[in-house]
Amino acid sequence: NAPLSEVDPEIAAVLDGELARQRNTLEMIASENFAPRAVLEAQGSVLTNKYAEGYPGRRYYGGCEQVDVAENLAIERVKALFGAEFANVQPHSGAQANAAALAALIKPGDKIMGLNLAHGGHLTHGMKLNFSGKLYEVAAYGVDEKTCRVDMDKVREQALAEKPQVIIAGWSAYPRQLDFEAFRSIADEVGAYLWTDMAHFAGLVAAGLHPSPVPYSDVVTSTVHKTLAGPRSGMILAREEFGKKINSSVFPGQQGGPLMHVIAAKAVAFKVAGSEEFRERQERVLEGARIIADQLTAADVAEHGVSVLTGGTDVHLILVDLRNSELDGKQAEDLLHSVGITVNRNSIPFDPRPPMVTSGLRIGTPALATRGFGAKEFTEVAEIIAAALKPAPDTETLRRRVTALAEDFPLYPGQEEW
Ligand code: PLP
Repeated sequence: NAPLSEVDPEIAAVLDGELARQRNTLEMIASENFAPRAVLEAQGSVLTNKYAEGYPGRRYYGGCEQVDVAENLAIERVKALFGAEFANVQPHSGAQANAAALAALIKPGDKIMGLNLAHGGHLTHGMKLNFSGKLYEVAAYGVDEKTCRVDMDKVREQALAEKPQVIIAGWSAYPRQLDFEAFRSIADEVGAYLWTDMAHFAGLVAAGLHPSPVPYSDVVTSTVHKTLAGPRSGMILAREEFGKKINSSVFPGQQGGPLMHVIAAKAVAFKVAGSEEFRERQERVLEGARIIADQLTAADVAEHGVSVLTGGTDVHLILVDLRNSELDGKQAEDLLHSVGITVNRNSIPFDPRPPMVTSGLRIGTPALATRGFGAKEFTEVAEIIAAALKPAPDTETLRRRVTALAEDFPLYPGQEEW
């Protein structure tokens, strides 16, 4: 029963080091968040010891009476949160949820049509090295070259020409809301299923601050760890008629034993996501993103070739366009890293630079909103980012401003170690 620090000091040092890193820097990777202590407790628990293949009440192992309670709570809470008829909370990750969703809807060789990866789509929406690109035929829609937005007339034209069996709505890097009603009507017109992957914006939907894809989609998948701020994992919502197929496509189709400790942590996260505190936090997520977008579209930044894709944001992230800047995405990411702000470089549509370099930055506000940041702090963050992206930044002063913000908003206060 010895503690981690005795059994494995090297790994204990990694945990300590990572906690310090998260505390002392500003986390602005759009797909990341800080899971609350209650989620971490459920996830780091004895439930990891339990095998529970099957579903609540229909397990292939004995002793599942406690974990059944956890899984049923997770299912009922997520259905209530999103107004869904059916939920499967077993996918180990977003990618596995997506694999299971496609396997439930279509067969290998059928055609899928999602947003081009280079325009903000996800690997699992048809990238050729991913299972989705290997198992299925792929047609991708892109964003309009001028507006950098998804143009539903073009999506319709393409769907009529390609006749996909599944149309995919959803994205990993797109700063605007999609028109789910239009996607539904196109899917109906061409006889396709509509699958929405809301991994990025699920927290905003839960808070009622973003249109919900649930009423329009046959299947909705999501991760639980991005705006939703739960444990790293996935889930599937669907209309009741797809429930049986989805269950068998997750288990035994894609996975073996469910991660019951993670499922319990999902139940906790879904409870938190239904709270007023969570809704208020998502408002700060959106407000912070708008403040940063405004700062990065100001004239003193624009004169250095830095701009914001689509001119702003409706969601939790901003895509910085560096196509006209001396800085490329890699240099800008490294520069922000040097002042203590963590972001990721990101290809943007029609990017002239290669994928390892890129001409974009993806900047997200969920983690800092969870940390307590509001308009005042996001204004300071926006000024720091803008100053860093201008020529010859004073990185030492900027790093001190970042440290001051981090110290004012302690992460996991009172927690000595992890
Ligand atoms: N779907 C979308 C839209 C995503 O952005 C991501 C992750 O970045 C995933 C699915 C995959 O999630 P995971 O990393 O849990 O497999």
